[in-house]
Amino acid sequence: MDFRPTEEQELLRRTVREFAETEMRPHVMEWDEAQHFPMELLPKLAALGLMGIQFDESVGGSGMSAVDYCICIEELARVCPSIALSVAAHNGLCTAHIAMFGNDAQKQKFLPRLVAGEVLGAWGLTEASAGSDAAGMRTVAAKQADGSWVLNGSKTFITHGKIGGVMVAMAVSDRTKSRRGISAFVLEHGTPGMSAGKKENKLGMRASDTSEVLFQDCRLPADALLGEEGQGFINTLQVLDAGRIGIAALSVGLAQGAYEAARTYAKERKQFGQPIAGFQAIQWKLADNATRIEAARLLTYHAAYLKDRGVRMTKESAMAKLFASEIAVKAADDCVQIHGGYGFVKDYPAEKYFRDVKLLTIGEGTSEIQRLVIARQLLAQ
Ligand SMILES: Cc1cc2nc3c(=O)[nH]c(=O)nc-3n(C[C@H](O)[C@H](O)[C@H](O)COP(=O)(O)OP(=O)(O)OC[C@H]3O[C@@H](n4cnc5c(N)ncnc54)[C@H](O)[C@@H]3O)c2cc1C
Repeated sequence: MDFRPTEEQELLRRTVREFAETEMRPHVMEWDEAQHFPMELLPKLAALGLMGIQFDESVGGSGMSAVDYCICIEELARVCPSIALSVAAHNGLCTAHIAMFGNDAQKQKFLPRLVAGEVLGAWGLTEASAGSDAAGMRTVAAKQADGSWVLNGSKTFITHGKIGGVMVAMAVSDRTKSRRGISAFVLEHGTPGMSAGKKENKLGMRASDTSEVLFQDCRLPADALLGEEGQGFINTLQVLDAGRIGIAALSVGLAQGAYEAARTYAKERKQFGQPIAGFQAIQWKLADNATRIEAARLLTYHAAYLKDRGVRMTKESAMAKLFASEIAVKAADDCVQIHGGYGFVKDYPAEKYFRDVKLLTIGEGTSEIQRLVIARQLLAQ
């Protein structure tokens, strides 16, 4: 395996970095404080191909590889983890689920608008009483005599639950069959019977909308069924295998941003008559973080490399997500520590990395669940 970037990948990184620095950096705190997702960014993200990174050019996608995807998410997260989270959820969950398991008609109907950034995609698995144990969901899809469906229930913590335009939602279609009794559905926000509930007021990732979605006698036509009936949960696990590569890349990018902020500050801040970067205690923090970030990046690119070759990467994506998210927490913590008191106030980026990073050991499967996934794979060998 050779993870040295190609010339195209170097250009891609430079392009996304420049975009993030000019279009995002100046507004990051304003979006965070207002808990505002900047919809005006969507056409600009789409123009760079970031709303349809890995999707087929026949539906308007950018046709990039999984490694390219990691580079894009990293560079967005280095500047604004919230926007990176929204882009990753849009690409890696909703749009990916439709691209992987939708029929031709569904792909033609939904993908062009999603990859063009006309609408944001939402993906609903989690419920108030079913998080890590997602198969314990209670939202039901009742099949009608004419093949149509009626959804009742609610989804919790849904990225773009309020501001999304298209949603993939999982629901129990056959109570007798446990995991094999769950089906996926694709629907438009605004479908009668579907509404957004509470918008969460969050610790971090505040510019990314996280809301409840409610279904009350929500009638869906037969062709809203996404993938085979009863296969929704099984398909979800495959979506998550790839989705976790995105969260790993987000973690690498956030850690890189925090590390760079700490390094810059350490060279500027003087105590005891010299820049604090002159103290070995600070140098070791920088050296350890730079090393851990590089290791996390390689694990992440390895999982992406396997995905690009069509190799199953359940273990590798879980390892990448687990390791990258945990080292990112450490990088953000050290960033605050190196800033001292200035790390605790909003004039510097450290406190925001510190708040945003915690989601990464929780979303798309907590660290505990990643360990469980890894251990299962190891023990099955
Ligand atoms: C900002 C944000 C965005 C999100 N976006 C989405 C989205 O777009 N779509 C979506 O469907 N969901 C989304 N989620 C939900 C997210 O995936 C869940 O929060 C996550 O899977 C954990 O579920 P939970 O919150 O119910 O925690 P719980 O499952 O209740 O876990 C609580 C604690 O118990 C531990 N635990 C649980 N089971 C075990 C076990 N078997 N062994 C050991 N420890 C265990 C967990 O690791 C955790 O530490 C989002 C969440 C957040 C905060």
